[in-house]
Amino acid sequence: MADCIFCKIAQKEIPSKLVYEDDTVVAFRDLEPQAPQHVLVIPKKHVESLLALEEEDKALVSHILVDVIPQLAQKLGIAEKGFRVVANTGEEGGQTVKHLHFHLLGGRSMQWPPG
Ligand code: 5GP
Ligand code: ZN
Repeated sequence: MADCIFCKIAQKEIPSKLVYEDDTVVAFRDLEPQAPQHVLVIPKKHVESLLALEEEDKALVSHILVDVIPQLAQKLGIAEKGFRVVANTGEEGGQTVKHLHFHLLGGRSMQWPPG
């Protein structure tokens, strides 16, 4: 989508530190990491948030959660000690970029509840 920063990252129009890519998904390092390992996992397809997902997106989201994130956690060395996956959604959810993204955070002990 025009003017979407994450679409531009997915299309390599804006540089990022890519850590994973396949036909439908890219993952790249967050510009302002909140943990020693902080990666954003996004569908290449523009979807605004979890609320905008459609029936046809089920396989895509399942691919991200079942395949990509656990593999990435292994690759980044955070699988054994544990990690956190966050999808900020909407205004009160703290979503600032309106292209669905899953934060994968690890490498330190996480607090709960979040702030
Ligand atoms: P949200 O606040 O929407 O859940 O997360 C958006 C995230 O995207 C933030 O953690 C922010 O640091 C990150 N971010 C925003 N712009 C860019 C960018 O141009 N490149 C990268 N790598 N991360 C970005
Ligand atoms: Zn987009």
